[in-house]
Amino acid sequence: MTETNLLQQINTLSSQTTQLCYHCHKCTAGCPVAEDMQYGPDRILRMIQLGQKERLLSSHDIWLCAACETCGTRCPNEIDIARVMDALRQIAIAEGAAISEPDALKFHKIFMAGVQTFGRSHEMFLFAAYKLWTMHLMDDMDSGISLIAKGKVPVMPSLVKNRAEVSKLFKNVQKKTEVQE
Ligand code: SF4
Ligand code: SF4
Repeated sequence: MTETNLLQQINTLSSQTTQLCYHCHKCTAGCPVAEDMQYGPDRILRMIQLGQKERLLSSHDIWLCAACETCGTRCPNEIDIARVMDALRQIAIAEGAAISEPDALKFHKIFMAGVQTFGRSHEMFLFAAYKLWTMHLMDDMDSGISLIAKGKVPVMPSLVKNRAEVSKLFKNVQKKTEVQE
């Protein structure tokens, strides 16, 4: 894949114009997880422009991004970097790239499966499925039990009315990803 193709693929999947980035660094300066990232959002954008696909897809950063949208609100060119990170994760999964944060991928898959099934996120499902899949059974157990006891984590999911519409959205995204491959 040429650098133009990679950039176009990411732009199409994210509906962003990544070539507008002029590397002012405002996104990375405000990112709450930049300290733990290898590159930070600014350099991720540069790597997209340079077509450095392998470095991008094997980067921890695309899995550490918490999609908080801080970077997008700070960007003078209104690039929604959280959506760019989403596109990179989609490509990494579709291409079977070696995932540098396998637990983050498991979390991502469980989260998406929950949204596809219930129409919205369901914390109890996420909590139980993630623990079983990763076998991190006792991690954060104290706070988990406390949240459940206080009724902050509903046991039963709250379903959206039009789940067929949500399912259609998932299918459309799947089709879009396949067309771009
Ligand atoms: S804030 Fe926007 S223009 Fe500035 S480096 Fe980040 S993505 Fe590029
Ligand atoms: S959306 Fe991701 S990259 Fe942007 S500021 Fe939040 S964590 Fe950082």
